[in-house]
Amino acid sequence: MDDAKCFAFVRQHRWPEGVRCPACDRSSVIRDGCDDTQPHRQRYRCKACSGRFDDLTGTVLAGHHQPLRVWVLCLYFMGLNLSNRQIALELGLDGSDVQTMTEQLRRGLVAKAPEVELTGEVEIDEVYVVAGHKGQPAAVAKRAGSGAGASWQARRAAARWRRTSRRSLV
Ligand SMILES: [Zn+2]
Repeated sequence: MDDAKCFAFVRQHRWPEGVRCPACDRSSVIRDGCDDTQPHRQRYRCKACSGRFDDLTGTVLAGHHQPLRVWVLCLYFMGLNLSNRQIALELGLDGSDVQTMTEQLRRGLVAKAPEVELTGEVEIDEVYVVAGHKGQPAAVAKRAGSGAGASWQARRAAARWRRTSRRSLV
């Protein structure tokens, strides 16, 4: 599958009823040349809102580390109801990479990952408890107090633990 076919596939998939402006959703769109580095990537201008966009603007395919051809083939195989494992085999990719791609594509070509929204009271804290130290203050204190042998990491961990436990008493 060459670049020309890839972009044709994307257009067909994204705009089955003709190109629409991603900003204002009108169809009064004219072609406006092609991308400087990708000659098959069509650019457009919206006559209604003067917005400019191209085949990939706002899609999960734009600016991704996988080449467009891989995304398009993934989309194509999904249409054939191939499993993630089969797609991974066909594309020579890691199963988890394919899983991420198909999840994104299932949300839609244009859908973006929802932004994280924080509500209510939000606290940010840099304190962490080293695994294995939690619930064992005596062991940590002993290690921290063993003089020259105690590493700075252990002392820091002990300090962190004390700070955390003090806080939990409040
Ligand atoms: Zn527009």
